[in-house]
This record gives sequence, C-alpha cells and structure tokens, in this order.
Amino acid sequence: MSTQGTASRLPLSFIEKLPKTDLHVHLDGSLRLETILELADRERVQLPADSADGLRKFMHLGENCGSLVEYLKAFDVTLKVMQTEASLTRIAYELAEDAAAENVRYMEVRYAPMLHTQLGLKLTSVIEAVLEGLRAAEKDHGIESNIIVCGIRNISAESSLEMAELAVAYKNRGVVGFDLAGGEDGHPAKHHKAAFQLVRDNNINTTIHAGEAYGPESIAQAIHVCGAHRIGHGCRLRENGDLLHYVNDHRIPLECCPSSNVQTGAVRDLRSHPLKFYSDLGLRVTVNTDNRLITDTTVSKEIWLCHTEMGLELRDIKQIIMAGFKSSFLPFHVKQEYLRRANAELARFRDDGTMVDEAPANSHSSRHERAALPAEPATLA
Ligand SMILES: [Zn+2]
Repeated sequence: MSTQGTASRLPLSFIEKLPKTDLHVHLDGSLRLETILELADRERVQLPADSADGLRKFMHLGENCGSLVEYLKAFDVTLKVMQTEASLTRIAYELAEDAAAENVRYMEVRYAPMLHTQLGLKLTSVIEAVLEGLRAAEKDHGIESNIIVCGIRNISAESSLEMAELAVAYKNRGVVGFDLAGGEDGHPAKHHKAAFQLVRDNNINTTIHAGEAYGPESIAQAIHVCGAHRIGHGCRLRENGDLLHYVNDHRIPLECCPSSNVQTGAVRDLRSHPLKFYSDLGLRVTVNTDNRLITDTTVSKEIWLCHTEMGLELRDIKQIIMAGFKSSFLPFHVKQEYLRRANAELARFRDDGTMVDEAPANSHSSRHERAALPAEPATLA
C-alpha cells in the first residue's frame, strides 16, 4: 500500500467534477491564446510573434522564469489587446466560461484598471466592460464572479489611491476587494498605506500579494500596516513561526498558487512548496490559478498537483475546497449557502474517491452498511 494513501490515484477528471472557487486569478494573465491573436489581428496590434507557438515561447507559458520580475514581462503582451471595452468584455466572459467548464462556482477576478487606459478608455468603462462579460457568463454558465481592483507596488502610491477610489465607487456594484500586486522586492506595501486606509474606511475587503518575492516581514506589513484580510501566496510565511501561528489563529486565508510559485522561483519545485505543511498545521489554505494562461493551468490542475506532487489526500482536498468558499469576499449569509451546497456535493464522495452510493474501493460492505455512512459534518462558520 502506498504511504501516501490515495496519492497518485485520483485522476484530474475527478477533481474537475468537484465544486471549486478561484479567489486569486488575474484577468490580464488568463486570456485564451487564440483570443490574443484574434484581437491583435482585428485591432491591428503588433505582437512579438504572430502564431500560437511563437507567442507561447515568447511569453514562457508554463515555464520557469526564474523571478517574479521576468514572469511579469508576459503581461506586456496581454495588455496590448486589453485596451478596448469589447476586448475586455470578451476576455472576462471567456475566463468565466473556462472556469465554469471545470466547475468553478465562484470566482474573484483581479486586475489594475489603470493598465487598460492606453487608448483613452475611462477607468469606469474598464470596470463596467469587465462586469458586463462576467455577468453574461453568469447568465449562460451559472458561475458567479466579482472583481478585486489592484494597485501596483512598483507604479506609485498615488495610482494605488486612485484605484482605491475606484474600488470605493464600485463597492456593492461588482467590486468586492482591493489588492496590491506587482514587484514585491523593493516596493513595500506600507508605501501604499493611504490607499488601504481609504478602502478600510469604507469597509472593503483587502488582500495583498506578500511573502512571494520577499520575506515574512512583507506578510507582517500587509496584515499589521495595511490590514489585509487575506494573503496572496504567503510562501515565505514558514520562515517566521510566530507570524505563522498568528495567521492561523486569526484564520487569515492564504491564496496559494503552487505552479505560479515554481514559475517565479518563489519555491524550488512543487514538492518543496509549503502548502501541505500549512494545511497540516490547520491554516486556512486555498488553491488558485494566479494566471490560467501564463502559468498554463486550471484550478483542477493545481489541486490535482497538490494530490500527486505533495501527497494531499481527498479529505485534505475537500477541506481546501471548503476553505475557498469560506474565504471568499461574499456576505456571510451568501457564503453559508455556497458552503451548504459544496458540502452536500463533496459528501457524495468517500475519502477514497468512491461515491457514497457505490461500493467503496477494497471493501465488500453491504448496502445496509453503505447507507449508514455519515455525510461530512457541515462546518459553516
Ligand atoms: Zn497574483
């Protein structure tokens, strides 16, 4: 028997069937490759390559880039075709459609609207065009999505404040949070304190990329100086035990994006990713894509890699899925309904992956015994 229990046994197609969330996904890193080429052709935008293969190579899709700064260069390409309302609506729609196809039920899409004004679009139009795409996908595919507005660490404190004002204006109108993204090393979150003060004064949720390309001090600053309710990545949280337990005690969710962390060099490989360690310690760990295109991934693939590369078993996976719904920036009563539904769906599967109304693997239990199996306890708080 394998020492890792069900490890390497559940296929990717099984994970795809489970209900999921994606709480950390960048709009400008999650386009379809063909859409970039089509939009460039239609809008006469010059790209560094004119074929899918050429573009894939130039953007290092799914490859190790060595550093966050190198990884971020692929965004220069995607942003070229994200400067009109029609393209933003289409890209948002397709992202939600792709997520719905792998049973993502709730998604929080993040981006920095100021990066989409190169052709003169108004910031309000940049928000509304994306909302239009997300709402259309909800109608067609049943996936609910909201927006997280990003400030960028390496641009300026003033621009972050402007993004914070935009988040305030669209609170309860499709925007559910505020984030700080971009180059972490050399650009501390405290420089953007005024933006965070404004969003917190308006009772808006915040998350900050931290502990990805800098140490645990960056995570402490995100939480204690800027008031982050969730942490993006948090790879280097394991370097500070005291902060690790603070994050655990306060149930501060970690938005883990394993493959992206390997790509940017935040961790050496998937096996050395701290996600399992955090999960074993009881931290509120969620699994996300970061960038479906640039990291060449899906939520199901990320969870499946946690299973095959890190040894997480189905019972851990169920917990991670529930943590995703618990950690969303939705109102509590809405969240409870999602949790009830996800819990009921997950309870249909035993921890070995067989369905409750099927014979369990390696067992000859009677139908009577099978009917007596308890469902997963509902943990709604
Ligand atoms: Zn990110």
